[in-house]
Amino acid sequence: MAGLSERMRQMVRPELKDFEPYDPAFVPCDINLSANENTWPAPAGLSAAVREALATVPLNRYPDPLANELRDAIAAWHGVERENVLVGDGGDELLFLLFLAFGGPGRVLVDCPPSFTVYGLYASMVGTTVEQVWRDPETMLPDLEALVDAGRRADLVAVTSPNNPTGDAIARGDIERLLDACPGLVLVDEAYGEFSEAGTALPLLRTHDNVVVLHTLSKAFGMAGVRLGYLLGPADVIDALSAVRQPYSVGVLPQAAALAAVEHRDDALAQVAAIREERERLRAGLLGLGLTVWPSDANFLLVRVPGAHEVRARLATDFSILVRDFSQAPGLADCLRITVGTPAEDDAVIRALAALVGKECP
Ligand SMILES: *Cc1c(COP(=O)(O)O)cnc(C)c1O
Repeated sequence: MAGLSERMRQMVRPELKDFEPYDPAFVPCDINLSANENTWPAPAGLSAAVREALATVPLNRYPDPLANELRDAIAAWHGVERENVLVGDGGDELLFLLFLAFGGPGRVLVDCPPSFTVYGLYASMVGTTVEQVWRDPETMLPDLEALVDAGRRADLVAVTSPNNPTGDAIARGDIERLLDACPGLVLVDEAYGEFSEAGTALPLLRTHDNVVVLHTLSKAFGMAGVRLGYLLGPADVIDALSAVRQPYSVGVLPQAAALAAVEHRDDALAQVAAIREERERLRAGLLGLGLTVWPSDANFLLVRVPGAHEVRARLATDFSILVRDFSQAPGLADCLRITVGTPAEDDAVIRALAALVGKECP
């Protein structure tokens, strides 16, 4: 999809004239490792429970606006109260609500790129000033001192742990330092948290009133199509976000599917452990090709390949494998992001890259 027409550029709010519809850069391929979805077969118990739940949901009534049954299940899982949980139409909706409620003209978001570009996008949609604390160009790690310093002047700080697309997680102690220094809210985006051994920031909810933690069923739970994310935070923050949300943004089908998935979370979490091991196998394979592969706590790897843009195109056309091209993104020259797939998918991507970079397959 293209940007706005001349006519629309005249008609929309001036700040929005350069916005474009989101483009996931999707090309149909046999193997899709581009969007950090879980490509493994859904665990049988979880899958059956979700399908059974969906089959019996009445469709004629509006959903419970706040999805209280689901909130209770999520709260019990994470050892918090219902008032500390807000569910949304994917994590993306909750991110938007954060900027709607806590961003805006005259307010400042601090983030640490290269990271999830959605923060900057939503921030600027509502006129928020974005202050970027760049990561180290080689290690890709955030500069904690600079982040803490910038955080002192911010209304909202967004940290992603593990970070997309660099894969690193932030230690809980570092997040605690940030929370101590920041007068505003600190978002800890744990969309990939289940894949990490760094541990969640959730215990900090007990000691700090300025932390919100984002989780989603899109990644570890293999339910990206359902659109269900949830935010954990202080009750007054959840109330503020609830006040500005669309009442029925989460339909009866996502609510039912998510409730069944949360009840069968042990199946999903067992699979996550296997995907973590597969990640290390894929990483070893890519390192064996002589590529730069950053360590990852998530279900994807950031890889530096000479001629990445061309390599990505040839992976799609010659091998029908889709990965994400970040080579034009600031700070990510010659970088591709490859989702950890099934062992067969990962073998295929290693073989294809071996052919393209001219190395023997390890
Ligand atoms: C995928 C992702 C999300 C949320 O995705 P949803 O599908 O909208 O739940 C949030 N943050 C990061 C960093 C992500 O990669």
